[in-house]
This record gives sequence, structure tokens and C-alpha cells, in this order.
Amino acid sequence: MYNPKPGDRLESLDTPSMIVDLDIMEENIQKLMLLLKPLAVNIRPHLKTTKSPILAKKLIAAGAKGACVAKLSEAEVMAAEGIEDLLITCEIVGPVKVARLIELFRKHPGIQIVVDSEIGATAIDTALRDSGIQKPIQVLIDLDVGLHRTGVAPELALALALHISTLSHLKLLGIQGYEGHLQHVHGREEREKECRASMAILTGTATLLRGKGFDIQVVTTGGTGTAEFCATTPGVTEVQPGSFIFMDSDYRNAVGSYFAHSLTILSTVISKSASERRVTIDAGLKTLTTDSGFAEPKDMPDVTYTPMGDEHAWLEWKENKPDIPIGARVEIIPSHIDPTVNLHDFYYAHRNGVIEEIWPVATRGRVQ
Ligand code: PLP
Ligand code: MN
Repeated sequence: MYNPKPGDRLESLDTPSMIVDLDIMEENIQKLMLLLKPLAVNIRPHLKTTKSPILAKKLIAAGAKGACVAKLSEAEVMAAEGIEDLLITCEIVGPVKVARLIELFRKHPGIQIVVDSEIGATAIDTALRDSGIQKPIQVLIDLDVGLHRTGVAPELALALALHISTLSHLKLLGIQGYEGHLQHVHGREEREKECRASMAILTGTATLLRGKGFDIQVVTTGGTGTAEFCATTPGVTEVQPGSFIFMDSDYRNAVGSYFAHSLTILSTVISKSASERRVTIDAGLKTLTTDSGFAEPKDMPDVTYTPMGDEHAWLEWKENKPDIPIGARVEIIPSHIDPTVNLHDFYYAHRNGVIEEIWPVATRGRVQ
């Protein structure tokens, strides 16, 4: 029976498999801590990348204060695994999800949520009151700092804060303003400039709310591409980077190689097709995502990866013929790490080719 286990070598893995180089991953975590720990911010990594309570605990052990998840269903898994200090960064809307939130909050009162509308805030408050739970839930106002995905417009933030103050079961803890549109801005100077402008909106709103008597304790923001700029903006109290732990080619192209690629997809050359300049591997669309461009072969600078359907992809050489036999194994660097991880059941974490740990992708498919 196929049963990979710690102590086995990578050669014993079937392909495609998602593998993590532990030395590189640990260095990425250390580098993040080195960069951000001396600054006056909490580090609350976003678990939308790893989807793993095991990795969440490693991040917390390394110095993170709690974690973020995107969705309520991810929070259910993480909280059940003992990660209580959790911020759910997506709005919780609709009676089904709100009912689910109440159940989660009953067991895990440390949970934090975001709201960006009076309708959304009122629905959660009403459900909490009806549930008989006395303790208020901690909420952050989600502010639109330029991404235009979610978040209340800055000029409406005060009205929302005033509304929340009328709701007995919501406790306003702070504000979140995620500048996702800036994470991949190429060029450090340009990215910093645009980030500082978004941060001015965020911290300006926090100041305004404090001036009106609101106790804004948390100002949370930032991703892998901007965290260091956010963290050096006076008034920001917390940053939420996620992708740094594994990285991907899209991020590296934008922000450089301070964080290195620790995760790759191990695949096998299964065929040599008609052209002399290409081979076919067993890692197609079911294995690697394409929304942020195509993945790239590791340590093969002149070779491109092109998906050829669900199960296949070409590796193509611009010049020369591929000197690679059928059965050879290659590692492929994902172009967008978060949805790529969501395609796999397990991480095989190795050091120098020996598997040390196998982690389930516990919140894989937790899209609700
Ligand atoms: N915070 C929020 C709200 C996000 O949506 C994301 C990613 O989409 C992050 C933080 C983490 O960003 P990254 O993975 O780019 O580091
Ligand atoms: Mn992403």
C-alpha cells in the first residue's frame, strides 16, 4: 500500500506531490520575524496560505500573535485545533453563516470578526441577543483603503462606528484596511509610496474615530508585499502577511527574493511529445493554478511550463533539446500559492530530501 511516512526520501513519493523544503520555510519565518519583530506591531499571519493548524502553531511559536483566516469555515477548523486568537477577515453575511458564527463564538469567545455595513452588524447583533449569549463579540470595521473589494468607504466609517455603538452585543475593537491591490506593485519605491497613501487613509480614520471617543485598539493591515511599510507606519498595530512562508513566482517577480520559494510541486516527465524541444509532465490544472500566470520549473531558467489540460503540462526548451528522460522528476514553483495549496491534500515537508513531517491541508475546500 502507498503510505509515505517521515523518514522516507522524496524519491518514495508518488507525483504530483506538494513538497516543502523545511530549511527554506523556517528561514522565511525567521526573516519575517527579524523584519517585523523589532517594530511596534503584532504579527498575525494569514492562514489563507497554509490552511494548516500545524503551521499556524509553528508561526505562533515563532512569535506571531494569533492568526487570520479568510472564512468562517476555516475558523471552525483552526479554533477546534486550539488556535483561539483568530481574526476572520471576510464579512459574515446571511442568516446561515451568522448562525454558524454564533455556534463558533459560543465555544470560542476570543474570535474577532469584521463588518462593513450596518445591515451586517445589526444581523450579527440580533442573532447574538437571540442566542442568549451575554458576552459581546469583538468586531473590527473593515475599511476600503483602495482595493474596492470590501470595506466601508472612509467617509462612512464614523457612521458605522456610531451604529455599532448602539448594538449591545458588538464590541468595537479596531479597524482593518487591507491594501491587496498593492501587494504585487513592482518596484519597492512605488509599492512603498502607494502603501503609505493607503496607510494614511487607515490611520487617519483610526485617529478620527478615536477623536470621537471610540476605543480603537487594533489597526490591522498588510500582506507579504507591504507588511514592512505598514509596520513602520505610526498607528498601525498589526500586520497580516500570509504568502511569505512559501512564496510564489508572481510575488517574487514583484518583490524580489528576500523570502525564498520553500514550496514546490514534485512532478514526473511522463511523455515526450512530437516536438524535440518539449516533454510532458503530470502536473496540469488540477495541480497548479494559472490565475497569476503560469508556474515555472525550478532551477531550469530556460524552460517554460505550459498547462496542457487538467492532468498534463509541457516543459519547453527555447534552444537545445531537453536532456531529460521519461521518468525524470522536476520541481515546479507555483505562480499563486494560496489557491495552489487548495488543490492538494497533504504537504510533504522534507529536509535535504528526507521527509520529516506530513501535514494535512486541513482547511482545503473550506470556502464558506
Ligand atoms: N489580509 C487579507 C485580508 C488578505 O486578503 C490577504 C491575502 O489575500 C492577506 C492579508 C495576506 O496577503 P499575502 O498572502 O499577500 O501575504
Ligand atoms: Mn493570494
